[in-house]
Amino acid sequence: MASPSDRADRAARAPLAERVEQLLAGEGPLPIVAAGEPVLRRGTEPFDGQLEPALLARFVEALRVTMHAAPGVGLAAPQVGVELRIAVIEDPAPVTEEVRLARGRVPQPFRVLVNPSYEPLGTARAAFFEGCLSVPGWQAVVARHAQVRLRAEDETGRTVDEVFTGWPARIVQHETDHLDGMLYLDHAELRSLSSGRAMAERWAQPTPEAAAAALGFPLP
Ligand code: ZN
Repeated sequence: MASPSDRADRAARAPLAERVEQLLAGEGPLPIVAAGEPVLRRGTEPFDGQLEPALLARFVEALRVTMHAAPGVGLAAPQVGVELRIAVIEDPAPVTEEVRLARGRVPQPFRVLVNPSYEPLGTARAAFFEGCLSVPGWQAVVARHAQVRLRAEDETGRTVDEVFTGWPARIVQHETDHLDGMLYLDHAELRSLSSGRAMAERWAQPTPEAAAAALGFPLP
């Protein structure tokens, strides 16, 4: 039987599960919130069963569908207005061999990251343009750890403890940062900020060296 404090605890949690239920009541991809919405800046609660397993499974599936539709290579719960420490990643990496080699952009299968955190391995940094579904229309160069150790759980509660390098390391850092209320712009080279049009017309090269020279920002 639940103690009174358990019951109070559950009552306090109910609104979150109810909000997720409401969110999932609609069909198709979920709406993605854009920069300026406080939910992207508040940080998240660790996941510890706030959603029953069946609801968690539906929520994760909705994140996957929304990420695919966007399309994007990662999506964090706050980006759909939910303050839970949950993100999904998946990257089919449809890029040329030249880009794959320069950026380390190798395919990353679908993964659910529950309560992820990362720490850098070594001091190497890699700087590339990246974008965010919550900052539509823009990209900027971010120097990130080239290699990180990710600790998390998967959607079944199994422990994840893995080393990520190349583009998957970038995705893991970007999505985990969302769960701490950060956006990639917080640590981007702001002088590199480029519109989608500038990206297509000028900065499609495998590395940001030409952009750094032309726009005047440093690379590691
Ligand atoms: Zn993002």
